[in-house]
Amino acid sequence: MSQILPGTGVGSTAVIAPVHRLADRPIQPPPTRRKKSIEEEIAALEAAAKSVQDLLQSRATQASGDASAILTALSAFAADPALMMAAKAEISNGWDSPTAISRAAKSFAQMLQSAGGAFAERAADLDEIALRITAELTGQEWSVEIPTSGRFVLVAEDLTPADTAGINSKVVVGVITQKGGPTSHTSIICRQMGIAAVVGCAAALELTNGDIVLVDPVGDRVVLNGDLSDATQALPIVAPDAKTLIPVYGNIGNQKDAKAVVEMHGAGVGLFRTELLYLDAQSAPTIAEQRKIYQAVFTEIGKLPVVIRTLDAGSDKPLRFLNLDSEENPALGIRGWRINRPQPQVIYDQLTAIKQAADATGADVRVMAPMIAIPQEAFEFAAIAREIGLTNIGIMIETPAIAFAVRDLAGHLNFVSIGTNDLAQYLFAADRQHNELVDFLDPWQPALLRTIKRICDDAKRIELSVGVCGEAAADPLLAVVLAGIGVNSVSAAAPAIPAVRTRLAIANIEIAEQAADLAMKATTAQSAKSLVKSLLK
Ligand code: PEP
Ligand code: MG
Repeated sequence: MSQILPGTGVGSTAVIAPVHRLADRPIQPPPTRRKKSIEEEIAALEAAAKSVQDLLQSRATQASGDASAILTALSAFAADPALMMAAKAEISNGWDSPTAISRAAKSFAQMLQSAGGAFAERAADLDEIALRITAELTGQEWSVEIPTSGRFVLVAEDLTPADTAGINSKVVVGVITQKGGPTSHTSIICRQMGIAAVVGCAAALELTNGDIVLVDPVGDRVVLNGDLSDATQALPIVAPDAKTLIPVYGNIGNQKDAKAVVEMHGAGVGLFRTELLYLDAQSAPTIAEQRKIYQAVFTEIGKLPVVIRTLDAGSDKPLRFLNLDSEENPALGIRGWRINRPQPQVIYDQLTAIKQAADATGADVRVMAPMIAIPQEAFEFAAIAREIGLTNIGIMIETPAIAFAVRDLAGHLNFVSIGTNDLAQYLFAADRQHNELVDFLDPWQPALLRTIKRICDDAKRIELSVGVCGEAAADPLLAVVLAGIGVNSVSAAAPAIPAVRTRLAIANIEIAEQAADLAMKATTAQSAKSLVKSLLK
């Protein structure tokens, strides 16, 4: 008999495959004083650290590209001499080895946290390493094995960066997680890789290895013992030249993504997240280095427009080479355009590289700055871009303050692009990385939609075009709502483009306006979505 497990769907194609459960996180035992000798505890610790290091290193060797780099960095942590020395000191102070490694990792993590930026991000890696060593010491299984052959649906509480690094989308065809929401790390990765997922599925951990599940993202559900014929039908994809209510652009982080956008018949690139190119850079990329990469992307896109965003560093995207000071609240600190305060040369050089790449390729390049809060910042950005010779200039609307100051931008900009991920984070005061707060970050939240409406109305008065490039744009139904609200274009990860284009090809403006009206008048995200779902059925 089939059983329905509701959640939030990511993607538009249903898949059916057996479950592969990722092991639950091991339990950290309570702090315990040492009963064995110092030498015995140290020997056990060293052996456990070595086996964690070897395991991660062997997975790094099997993986490639970013995945391999992430796993190599993790394995290096397991062998870190300073961490080991601190753990040994804790053993000498009377703690057993699991307690010692956990105490040492905690104090290192605190140091990294207070160093801020890229270091703070590594603190989570350190937690994972300490827990892996503890699991090894206490005989708890914590497999890092993501299957590399066969065909599976991966089921887990949530996926860590190490997990997602190991995924091959031909083998892992679906993902089900108990935690996470439509904008969580897992959703973004699955959408980018074209993997069908249902996140925030409360009953996920009741599934066991070998269960046959239908992952039905369009229906926002998993069907245990379901059949492909149970899948909520996504609409047949429209022809590449079908006219859509508003154009659908693609979000990219590199040249490969740009190629995928072209293959999916995107109208161009609506968001090039340039900071993703430099997450691990030790020193600032030179103008020549940047120019080479941008040129390759522009060439890939050809005649289509490319909106390139200046480095959105800080908070959830720390850039090591900036050496930013540590901050209590990095999401509210020096991030996005604000890095221009301590380090104006960085953005100046980036815009120079963009201009050179644009000149060399003749590409239709538009530039925009992230995390603008007041018009003055937009004016500064526009002045610098113009001085460098760039002419098509915009900003991202990601803070409530600028959402309510759009009319002041008249005459200074060519476009604005709404980053619904951050706009929701700041509107609802809910950390976008926080697993327990995903309901606030649901892009169907009526207050978010009403804010977008205000932006569109004001932008229309001053003839400014409005795009949406946050995850909201990847939801085909929501894309119709956005068009009805008055958004002029949307931009989503390449795998989401066909389904979004399809919805926007079959909708007309009257139905889109009706959908927008229903969604904005709703009082909850769920009712907004279900009302629109019934209307657009
Ligand atoms: C957003 O905030 O919606 C956005 C598109 O930017 P990012 O997700 O890169 O912060
Ligand atoms: Mg953002």
